[in-house]
Amino acid sequence: MIPAAWREGEVAVIGLGKSGRSVSALLRREKVRVYVSDAGSGPALEQAAAALRAMGAEVDVGRHDLERIARATVVVASPGVPPTAPPLAAARAANVLIVGEIEVALHFLPNTHSIAVTGTNGKTTTTALIGHLLRTLGEDAVDAGNIGTPLAEVALREKHPTWTALELSSFQLHDTPSIRPDVGVVTNLGPDHLDRYASADDYYADKARLLANANAGSKWVFNGDDPEVLALHRRLPGASKVAKLNGQQWTFSLKDRNASAWYDRERDVLMALGAPLLPRKELALMGDHNVANTLAAALAVMVGDRGRQNPRARMAIAAGIRSFRALKHRLEVAGEPGGVLWINDSKATNVGSTLVAVQGMTRPTILLLGGRHKGEPYSALAEPLKRVGKIVLAYGESAPLIEKDLAGLVPIERLGSSFPDVIARARALARSGDVVLLSPACSSYDMFNNYEERGAEFKRLALAGT
Ligand code: ADP
Repeated sequence: MIPAAWREGEVAVIGLGKSGRSVSALLRREKVRVYVSDAGSGPALEQAAAALRAMGAEVDVGRHDLERIARATVVVASPGVPPTAPPLAAARAANVLIVGEIEVALHFLPNTHSIAVTGTNGKTTTTALIGHLLRTLGEDAVDAGNIGTPLAEVALREKHPTWTALELSSFQLHDTPSIRPDVGVVTNLGPDHLDRYASADDYYADKARLLANANAGSKWVFNGDDPEVLALHRRLPGASKVAKLNGQQWTFSLKDRNASAWYDRERDVLMALGAPLLPRKELALMGDHNVANTLAAALAVMVGDRGRQNPRARMAIAAGIRSFRALKHRLEVAGEPGGVLWINDSKATNVGSTLVAVQGMTRPTILLLGGRHKGEPYSALAEPLKRVGKIVLAYGESAPLIEKDLAGLVPIERLGSSFPDVIARARALARSGDVVLLSPACSSYDMFNNYEERGAEFKRLALAGT
């Protein structure tokens, strides 16, 4: 199942995180020689190393043997390891093929169908909704990839699922050369990760890799409102400006009645493949962007199999949409003490996602904006903030930049890097009927280990003392 050449020597796995551990276990189960290394240290890594050694892998914790990595038949990189990291630089210098965990796992899942989702924002929500809808329809489906469960972990299971809802980040796509989903979904595209990519063009080029192996049987679900998505295949290496994409295409739109799935705002109904699916008010998710995510998910599920387009299946899909709740840290309501609605959107780590969050607000909003800057200007937020923004509280490393971009356009106050102080200030300013929205447009790494921690702390402090 895996290329024979990989067995001729040793596979080097870089990183002992969740995906590195699963892929090493998978390779060892196939008796492939494996060398795993991680520059970090600590008891959790030691424990993971011991478990892998028991399976016959060789493991280094606290160091990478760069010469050994340069001799590997293939290097498996974790998505968190930047391409400039020494082990990957060593592999590249020695012309060793670098792939990701998903690429390896795909070789072990030849009979599992996939609906793969990428895009700048809405990937996780759309993927989770697709998995949920497939299961509502009675399919044996698992959510995997960037959403949390490594695909290698799915491949390790005794019984492989019939379908996966597979979330793919640009970093994962970069290292998955043989990706060929049954249905590929692109939610939207906007500049992101400019801290890791030299340009937005480079970032889009990685997103385009989802389409690299398109054939006549491929099915694509694209955001019809986003010209960058509709032209994505033209960013494939060697593609011309007029190149056509292989396979069949469907589009979803928030306004265009000619799209395969669209939102009829006048009648307040989500439409799919020529018929009503359900009224918007029955969605538990906030904001127009979640209408787009829902249209994308429903369409992907429906075109994935003709049997899911009859009236009975449509009813099941509508029921699945009704029962789907917001994921944690994505416009998640923390509570409404004293009539102030505290909303946790900690997952909004770029300007585009904060923009849709603010656009979705209908009450006076105190916006908590800040963290580690990722490269984009904040000025795009000024316009929607003029409508609902009561004040912006700029905090963390990026506070001076935020102030520079927004001062004079919206009321703004610059705070320091104490999160409890930020929350206390928000509480002091908030009046009944207001919203306090944590939608920071930045990564959390200046003050937290990850966005989950930031969101959990927001919820705890929001509800403390109430
Ligand atoms: P991703 O996995 O791509 O980061 P998520 O589903 O986790 O996306 O949502 C992250 C944040 O992005 C949300 O909190 C929301 O603010 C924003 N978002 C979600 N869907 C969309 C969309 N379709 N368009 C723009 N922004 C979105």
